[in-house]
Amino acid sequence: MDGSVAIVGAGIGGLSLALSLHARGVPVTVHEQATELREVGAAVALSANGLRPLAELGLLDELDAVATEPSELIHRGWRTHDRITGFAVGVDGSYRARFGAPYLGIHRAEFQRVLAGACPDGMIRLGSRVESVVDLGDRVELRLAGDEIAHAAVAVGADGVHSRLRQSVAPGSGPVYTGTSGFRGLVPVADVPSLPDPTAIQFWMGPDAHLLHYAIDPDAGRINFLAVLEGPDEWSGGAGPQAVPDGTLAAAFGGWAPAVREMVTAVPQSDRWPLYTLPPLNRWSDGRVVLIGDAAHTMLPHHGQGANQSLEDAAVLADLLVAPEARTGGHAAAFARYERLRRARTRKVQRSSLVTSDLLHLPDGDEAAARDARLAGLDPWLAWIHGVDARESTRALPVG
Ligand SMILES: Cc1cc2nc3c(=O)[nH]c(=O)nc-3n(C[C@H](O)[C@H](O)[C@H](O)COP(=O)(O)OP(=O)(O)OC[C@H]3O[C@@H](n4cnc5c(N)ncnc54)[C@H](O)[C@@H]3O)c2cc1C
Repeated sequence: MDGSVAIVGAGIGGLSLALSLHARGVPVTVHEQATELREVGAAVALSANGLRPLAELGLLDELDAVATEPSELIHRGWRTHDRITGFAVGVDGSYRARFGAPYLGIHRAEFQRVLAGACPDGMIRLGSRVESVVDLGDRVELRLAGDEIAHAAVAVGADGVHSRLRQSVAPGSGPVYTGTSGFRGLVPVADVPSLPDPTAIQFWMGPDAHLLHYAIDPDAGRINFLAVLEGPDEWSGGAGPQAVPDGTLAAAFGGWAPAVREMVTAVPQSDRWPLYTLPPLNRWSDGRVVLIGDAAHTMLPHHGQGANQSLEDAAVLADLLVAPEARTGGHAAAFARYERLRRARTRKVQRSSLVTSDLLHLPDGDEAAARDARLAGLDPWLAWIHGVDARESTRALPVG
């Protein structure tokens, strides 16, 4: 592709796309509204499908050094410490051997530090908020806060769940609140003395709620948790997280197993995060503007895939933007192929994440028992999500 790429958003998708394009000699500018790169939320679980492209960029050793590989993936019921399932992940090296990359729990600040640290000086423009993008036919014009203007050959909206660039591509579309919300926390492992298998990634499932947690840090010294509740029915007072009365989280998990109660009360209660999903967009690109990551397919976090799908998007789009097809057919050919390759995959993961939300919150009874029995078939689930090589059909494309 001729010309430069403007990426809007220095999140997980934006930074990884910037690195992939830069590695192939494409001039890139990343516009980030924040004046400093701060952690958004606490931690993130990166699976083999998302880490594989980062390994190909030479970043795996650095990530591995600051992350924890969970020993197992375990499901438990809400009342007791009994296991329902347990799948080996890092304990015997089988996950890494099978999928060609690890499964890592990492603090978001560390992840962002590794990605941003690999970008050359000047590539990321902090405090650069994009207000709108205008397609001029032969290039795009980005209108920035402060009446500044920037130009590029194409613009990539990597601007997250409440994406502004989405309005250029699919006007009127937007994320929908799912009627579920989450609390997040980072807890020293020593403060959860009852916790069985503290180095595992674990789901505790119960009526109208679940708790997911995994260890982070090289010594697995802290545990990142996401506690999800049904409700409130409506989300009012702004799209972002909100403070709610102290004790809300502790009360919701009051009758749960000791380890769960210890974990959710070990740190001050976080704000309550609304959880969103994005109804499928009719298109992911229009003219010279294209979307990746949450801007294109915001999903519930219950498969731990929002960030990983953003990494897949970035890797595929970078391949296509530097392929000869993009030189001869222009950006339109690259964008069309990108959408063809990515829409069905992300839709399937998104839909499965929604279904999983209900399954994780079943009351005790026959349905919960059937779910527990089905969890024995988790292996194929891991394979269809974690085993996919997003670049399978694009990696070998020549660079145009
Ligand atoms: C509670 C919770 C837990 C999660 N856990 C996991 C997990 O374990 N694994 C996983 O894979 N995913 C997880 N996710 C999902 C994951 O966080 C997102 O899918 C991922 O961050 C999306 O990456 P992105 O690059 O598309 O957007 P983001 O990472 O949100 O980045 C968007 C960036 O764009 C910037 N921006 C926005 N608007 C503008 C503008 N107008 N101009 C300039 N900059 C702008 C923002 O400041 C931000 O830096 C979780 C999500 C939630 C809510």
